[in-house]
Amino acid sequence: MTPSVDLPKHGPSVIAGVIQRLSVSQLKRHKLCPRAWFFQKVMRIPEPTTGAQQIGTEGHAQLEHFLSTGEDVLGPFAKAGAHLLPTPGADLLVEQPLNGEPPLTAGGIPFTGFIDLVDARRLASDGVLRITDHKFTSNVATNAASAEQLADADTEPGLQMVGYGAWALSQVERFPGLRTLELEHIYYQIRGQRLAASVVATMPAEHVAHEWQTKVEPQVEAMKEHAQAAQASVVPANYGPACGKYGGCPFMAKCLTGENKTMSLRDKLLNKAPTIDAAVERDAPELPAILPPDAPTPTPVQTAPEVAQATEQPAPKRRGRPRKAAEPEQPTDTAPSPTSALRVLFVDCIPTTFDGPQPKSLTSYVDTMHRKVAEAGGVDDVRFAGSDSALGFGKWRGALAMAARAELPPPGAYFALGVAQSELMQVIVEALEPAFDVVVRGVR
Ligand code: SF4
Repeated sequence: MTPSVDLPKHGPSVIAGVIQRLSVSQLKRHKLCPRAWFFQKVMRIPEPTTGAQQIGTEGHAQLEHFLSTGEDVLGPFAKAGAHLLPTPGADLLVEQPLNGEPPLTAGGIPFTGFIDLVDARRLASDGVLRITDHKFTSNVATNAASAEQLADADTEPGLQMVGYGAWALSQVERFPGLRTLELEHIYYQIRGQRLAASVVATMPAEHVAHEWQTKVEPQVEAMKEHAQAAQASVVPANYGPACGKYGGCPFMAKCLTGENKTMSLRDKLLNKAPTIDAAVERDAPELPAILPPDAPTPTPVQTAPEVAQATEQPAPKRRGRPRKAAEPEQPTDTAPSPTSALRVLFVDCIPTTFDGPQPKSLTSYVDTMHRKVAEAGGVDDVRFAGSDSALGFGKWRGALAMAARAELPPPGAYFALGVAQSELMQVIVEALEPAFDVVVRGVR
């Protein structure tokens, strides 16, 4: 983790929709959620500083001083990782600025920022450069990235470290003979037991260059496009785990209520899997701008199979009691559907014999849909959403039903037990009934 890389003296990083400069922090933010990046860098909405950030800032300052001077000023968190650090010395590059000569660029845009530590002590002998980033985290065991992630620019931690590696590759004269990069995270636990751990990804220089060209360059092109959006609501939103990461998205209130005046909660929840209908609701020429950077070419006929299947379901139009007979457009007397292609639901019962796939519990699907809606609404449990939440006053029921209809379980047989005892199960079963081919209810 580096301190804020956009120093005030540089002015805003995006002016009139044109990106002036980038940082790996911006890449990470955009990767996590393009809309959150838009709020932060394009709309320049200030973020509150959290207690954890304050600890990180202090820890970085202590480590910088220690590694540069050898003077032990480490606090209790940083001290736990002292054995993982190189011997202090003036030859270490500490808080190394990225905006050197030549600067690191992507899509023609220069990068600014700082690398916590660059250790070139094995460069002359082995062609190895180690780049380290310090991470202060609440839980090392659950939050540490893997070495594979550090090497993959499609992941958030990898994006940062590949960016640092790309900077090293751009400094040809400074690091002659560079063949191997060791990209390292050192984690310092700030809650509970004092712990520290090192995760290192070792890779040839060519790997970093390839990741930069094939993953980061296209992302920056997407960022250029997103920077020109007239409002946040047309920038892709990554509803889901991103909303709860790092203590919760600071822009959640605007994302869910204030900034998206034209976007209903329905649109927000459906945005993860845009349907053909949803796409038509938007202005067609703007469609490419609202898709994630790594999404396939957005033509309706090329919709991902699962999404296409969902959109073909008449569920959204079939409110009220379900039709249990075969669909008129698929007469069963001439072309019976294979049982495996149907969705069958057993409510409060399990068949003793069934000529089809083994029925599975609907519970994990209910849990998944609940988590998605809760994260989109910024709450842990939708049933306890407060009155200031978009899900409050029971509105979570409609949101959950809508999410279920938009993302049906795959074809197969399912059973739902104890429906009367679970509000979540009740809502989802009612939402799914019209979309299922067969629904069987147990007799109480
Ligand atoms: S609330 Fe979630 S979807 Fe909205 S901007 Fe924040 S991270 Fe993105």
